[in-house]
Amino acid sequence: MITRFAPSPTGLLHLGHAFSALTAWDMARAEGGVFLLRIEDIDGPRCRPEFERAIDDDLHWLGLDWPLPVMRQSERLPAYGAALARLAGIGVTYPCSCTRADIRAALTAPQEGAPGPDGPPYPGTCRGRAMASLRPGDAIRLDIARAVAITGPIAFEETGPRHPGRHTFRPDEMIAGIGDVVLARKDIATSYHLSVVVDDAAQGVTHVVRGEDLFAATPLHVLLQRLLGLPVPRYHHHRLIRDETGKRLAKRDDARAIRAYREAGETPAGLRALVGL
Ligand code: GLU
Repeated sequence: MITRFAPSPTGLLHLGHAFSALTAWDMARAEGGVFLLRIEDIDGPRCRPEFERAIDDDLHWLGLDWPLPVMRQSERLPAYGAALARLAGIGVTYPCSCTRADIRAALTAPQEGAPGPDGPPYPGTCRGRAMASLRPGDAIRLDIARAVAITGPIAFEETGPRHPGRHTFRPDEMIAGIGDVVLARKDIATSYHLSVVVDDAAQGVTHVVRGEDLFAATPLHVLLQRLLGLPVPRYHHHRLIRDETGKRLAKRDDARAIRAYREAGETPAGLRALVGL
């Protein structure tokens, strides 16, 4: 078993991150498996070396360790480029020049129901554009209808507390629920969805452990795995740690930073207890 924790170094880790990392660590330990760290630093200037050092520090303080070298997404652009080329090769991508305002204007009806993993599904303005028409500044989108025509239904095993069991999504559910998401942004030739799928496979992750806010993105991740010929891991989406008003913790919530508890004299065992482990 291989699990991982994949933080973005855009702020200090808080109690929610501690819970996520400890859950992945405990699962690996229970099975004699391996826990890996991955730094998800594709967000340019928002990612800072001091936050990366703090991640290292805080996780070690919690008692975790992991094999080196640590995978860093900013060093993996060639791997994402190769995956994108493969998707383009099977005809499931197209370039898109729409701005956020264009997309809002094209969404005629107010959006009903659950939004997709990146908000309301894209209205399809640029769909059908050939990859050969790609211009600097274009994003690259997934043509979800073509993609699910290749794969058929999408299925994965979930072991988290909220939605345990096998989940299957029909092609029409994928089209309506996910839509033509961005695979490569205008500013960087990848996206969270593409990178996470390529990297989980490259690290041999067998059990993806992460917050339940990402459950909705999982069918998309499995679709990308299927298109790219990658193994489909098991998923474990855990509960989110919330503040006393019920809001999930955010990076800017420095009062709940692991570091703040540590400086106030909390112990790693005390912190485990605080998050209910
Ligand atoms: N970098 C992502 C985050 O911090 C990780 C998501 C994942 O585990 O797939 O939310």
